[in-house]
Amino acid sequence: MISEAPPREPAADSTGPAVRIATTPRGDHNPPAEGTPEYVVELEGVSCYYGSFRAVREVDITVARQEITALIGPSGCGKSTLLRTINRMNDLIPSYRSEGRILLDGQDLSAKSVDPVAVRRRVGMVFQKPNPFPKSVYDNVAFGPRINGYKGNMNELVERSLRRAALWDDVKDKLKQSGMALSGGQQQRLCIARTIAIDPEVILMDEPCSALDPRSTLQIEELMAELKRDYTIIIVTHNMQQAARASDATVFLTMGDDRAGFVVERGRTIDIFTNPKNRLTEDYVSGRFG
Ligand code: ADP
Repeated sequence: MISEAPPREPAADSTGPAVRIATTPRGDHNPPAEGTPEYVVELEGVSCYYGSFRAVREVDITVARQEITALIGPSGCGKSTLLRTINRMNDLIPSYRSEGRILLDGQDLSAKSVDPVAVRRRVGMVFQKPNPFPKSVYDNVAFGPRINGYKGNMNELVERSLRRAALWDDVKDKLKQSGMALSGGQQQRLCIARTIAIDPEVILMDEPCSALDPRSTLQIEELMAELKRDYTIIIVTHNMQQAARASDATVFLTMGDDRAGFVVERGRTIDIFTNPKNRLTEDYVSGRFG
């Protein structure tokens, strides 16, 4: 069922302190419920394995509400693995298992009793390569709400989702055309519209711009800045400028001799890029390695 909750208020200040002591203010009409945790997503001691290979080692990350958090680090350090662990996508890989706790609004998502499909409704994902369904633009967006039994006005929901993905003006006369016929940047925005149509709390983005040209990349970054008024975004990116431009918080990972990825440093993006505490971070963000 799609949530009927009123739209969430924009974040008041994205340049806040590294550690928040309260949830982002939401205004008088929609205050956070009492007891709402300060972080939407928390990873506690998360290790990820493919068979006997430990790909990620004992990661602790906290993700603040209505912010963009970037995961950066050299190829193979486990960024995608971590991202896919958060919405339990990696459960689909038979050799995969994780240890530790992944909390969404304080609830442990890694518990065996939690239905991964329900998790993926709350934590949406946008992939590296735009992957619209071979269906019409309209049906791409309506697909998720339909299978979730949405009872509201579907035309309105499709239009609202496409508007929020900054795609409506491009496609309002082509709703019946195939989503695959759109340009790469439009396809990625269609995938974002498809994701937000089921109103998740968190949107995971795995290098969403790596297949796009610079103009489409900028459009997606502008869209992310809009979307964080309502959603929490975690993005994996290889593009240092993108992380620096688009994110509020940054987590830098690297690999040990055992090839297991681990967190070197995390904090406000401005601090990570201009005043890193760790030499490894400094070398990476300045392009000296990675
Ligand atoms: P990154 O996103 O930082 O490039 P990945 O999460 O893709 O890193 O990969 C981390 C490590 O896990 C790599 O050593 C990679 O080879 C391994 N890995 C990723 N996916 C699988 C898989 N499906 N099966 C086995 N090993 C995998």
